[in-house]
Amino acid sequence: MGLRRSGKSSIASVVFHKMPPNETLFLESTTRIQKDSIHSFMDFQVWDFPGQLEYFESAFDLEDIFGSLGALVWVIDAQDDYLDSVARLNRTILTVQQFYPGINIEVFIHKVDGLSDEYRTDTFQDIVQRISDELSDAGYENAPVHYYLTSIYDYSVFEAFSKVIQKLIPNLSTLENLINTLANNCGFEKTYLFDVLSKIYIASDTRPVDMACYEMCSDYIDVIVDISELYSWDHPVRKRLGDQIQEAESHVVLHDQTMIHLMEMNKYLCLVSVIRNPEAKDKRGLIDMNCRTFQDALNEVFSRSWEGGSTAQEGESA
Ligand code: GDP
Repeated sequence: MGLRRSGKSSIASVVFHKMPPNETLFLESTTRIQKDSIHSFMDFQVWDFPGQLEYFESAFDLEDIFGSLGALVWVIDAQDDYLDSVARLNRTILTVQQFYPGINIEVFIHKVDGLSDEYRTDTFQDIVQRISDELSDAGYENAPVHYYLTSIYDYSVFEAFSKVIQKLIPNLSTLENLINTLANNCGFEKTYLFDVLSKIYIASDTRPVDMACYEMCSDYIDVIVDISELYSWDHPVRKRLGDQIQEAESHVVLHDQTMIHLMEMNKYLCLVSVIRNPEAKDKRGLIDMNCRTFQDALNEVFSRSWEGGSTAQEGESA
């Protein structure tokens, strides 16, 4: 949600449909609610709401709109006058808090690529202040509202969407614990579990996220996807040479001896790790074996949480 031209459709197209950011200039304005189904490691929908409508007027059925939401992403154009958007957001938060307190409110302070560092920080603080004042006046001290600085011209929007989706995953802490154990035992500096199609990460180890590291891993997925397409099994001309392993595995050693290690976990997910230890390349067999053990654990977690959590998941679909 958010005002017209704030960047909602652009974000959905760039993150979920690989649209190059420059092409969003030609997107048409949304006039009705657009529902986009994403089938991946978990099925969910992204709804794009036209900006100018007041959803709390009696013409709209609140239950239809908010009843099945897991997260509400509100996009604010930080390059424009944002007071109207913040006022509407405040009204929305108060209603959502009253009737649907379980919905996470995710505020994207968007298009920050055009702002200086100083102006960016001021804008962020001003918006957070205006919203928290309104919330505390209404008696909501711990409302689930989170803020992100985003732009489609860098990785920030992927990082922000990763955080939004992570909060909707059942058993996220189990996944993080498993990744922590793997990363500690193998000496990985950082490990991400990526959704290959959107390149949002659904979990990582709990060390701080380093943007450069994330970019490197994300770019490496592109390289592997391109190469896999070139040499895929069902290539019309080339024949496969005997049995092949199901999932792609790959690593590269960079000029500073950093190794990036990638292993597909299943149809949708792949594990990408950054290893700074120069001896790592001689221990590939051990690293692969540990990643396979992680893969077994991961598939077990998913089969259990999906079995036991199907109703919770249906309730958290958007
Ligand atoms: P919507 O009406 O909220 O869906 O807005 P659109 O997605 O149609 O975007 C409106 C305009 O904002 C388009 O021209 C986009 O190219 C532009 N835009 C979207 N995201 C960004 C961003 O991160 N930075 C900049 N500079 N422009 C953006």
